[in-house]
Amino acid sequence: MSPVASTLWRSRFGTLYTSNAFVLFSSAADTATPPSKNESLSSAPSPPPIRVAVTESAGRGVFATRRIGAGDTIHTAKPIVSHPSLSSIKSVCYFCLKKVKTVAGAQPQGFSFCCENCKESSKVFYDVEKKADWLAFDDYCRTQGLKYPLLVKRLACMVISGAAPAGILDILQPASITQDMILKMEEGFHLLRNGLVRANIGDEHTSFLTKQWYTDVLARIRINAFRIELAAGVYEDLLSLASASIEAEAAVGNAIYMLPSFYNHDCDPNTHIVWIENADAKLKALRDIDEGEELRICYIDVSMSYDARQSILSQGFGFKCNCLRCLSGD
Ligand SMILES: [Zn+2]
Ligand SMILES: [Zn+2]
Repeated sequence: MSPVASTLWRSRFGTLYTSNAFVLFSSAADTATPPSKNESLSSAPSPPPIRVAVTESAGRGVFATRRIGAGDTIHTAKPIVSHPSLSSIKSVCYFCLKKVKTVAGAQPQGFSFCCENCKESSKVFYDVEKKADWLAFDDYCRTQGLKYPLLVKRLACMVISGAAPAGILDILQPASITQDMILKMEEGFHLLRNGLVRANIGDEHTSFLTKQWYTDVLARIRINAFRIELAAGVYEDLLSLASASIEAEAAVGNAIYMLPSFYNHDCDPNTHIVWIENADAKLKALRDIDEGEELRICYIDVSMSYDARQSILSQGFGFKCNCLRCLSGD
């Protein structure tokens, strides 16, 4: 996503990883999907057939480096940070958001992990998180209907544990935030900070956690977070996802990604982002794409009318859409 078509999802590893961005998403491309049995284990995964470049009108964008066939997986992406929605917290893995049986493996707080691997991976935030009492913070999110502060909390725990730099999201485009919005964020900031202070997590670990940091991170999450809806049923025929209304279960959570954040918006997109069983995102070609063509996803529900789309895109994302579909008035 670009400054102009900036948006929902634009996430990025920050300073620590920026210079390795390409390596990172290459490796993300192969870690999410285990090699099939027919594939030689020694063959190195090929990098995704895309490059990030500056577009004529919409800042940076993603372009195909070769022809991509309809239905092909272009690449996959693991989240930088994800969090289940509060309504799904007991029914999905606390780490990867995969559906879980609610009985086994539940933590005292009621959530669970789908496997040992996720339990292990969650240590980057959970070792810190479990030291504190989050009742007031979670209540605040629940009663106000807020989901993004949960991502900030998880990120803060990752920073404290040393798993992420405090500026990890700096590369993302922030939403413009009014003074009024900052005032509304204050309560969340104090609850987060108090939770950590009361858990006796020393100042040396929490000095990054200023009101400025909190609002800054929230401003970036606001327009870069993806709402994750797991595709229901069997989706190996991913072309069926081309249909305007995807049959998906309700959102299981939200997440921030790196590479998917560079995709610009189109109301008649050639690329689609899907989640099959967990928060690992798959970018799929919806039709044949030529080498050099820009890959675009739709940030909103493509079935909406022209007026509804323009209204959401301008209010939620801060740009006017000039895609071919919009230009035709459809
Ligand atoms: Zn899991
Ligand atoms: Zn449009």
